[in-house]
Amino acid sequence: MEQTFIMIKPDGVQRGLVGEIVCRFEKKGFSLKGLKLISVERAFAEKHYEDLSSKPFFSGLVDYIISGPVVAMVWEGKNVVSTGRNIIGATNPAASAPGTIRGDYAVEIGRNIIHGSDAVESARKEIALWFPDGTVNWQSSLHPWIYEC
Ligand code: GDP
Ligand code: MG
Repeated sequence: MEQTFIMIKPDGVQRGLVGEIVCRFEKKGFSLKGLKLISVERAFAEKHYEDLSSKPFFSGLVDYIISGPVVAMVWEGKNVVSTGRNIIGATNPAASAPGTIRGDYAVEIGRNIIHGSDAVESARKEIALWFPDGTVNWQSSLHPWIYEC
């Protein structure tokens, strides 16, 4: 089953949105496979965002991610990578639809409260980076109520 990496950024933690965000993924029917509150070092944040290292906003982005603790999570389910991106909304909250997390709770692109992997391959890399000791292997008893088979 597909997995994605979701991170509640420091502004999402500070603003008390952890429960709300976890709730949206849970209620959708996805399964939580890993979760931790963690403060990351600059080098780790640079590694996570290494694909964006040439962007003018890169150092500000890294400052933002290391400005407080984040909640790192692994969620599992059918098409969870792309559906997770839809739940999160567009990168710029000004363009995120109401009903999405960024659309409902964020205003600026540099304070957009949540990260979600953009592809199955990047999810695999991000999960390996953030959860080097692996995740929890369990299956929800709700499975047959969410999936046909
Ligand atoms: P995401 O996958 O939707 O998070 O977007 P990207 O991977 O393109 O960018 C990663 C993060 O960098 C975004 O979530 C924003 O926090 C930040 N970011 C992206 N573009 C900009 C920008 O133009 N300005 C600023 N200040 N931050 C940006
Ligand atoms: Mg991205």
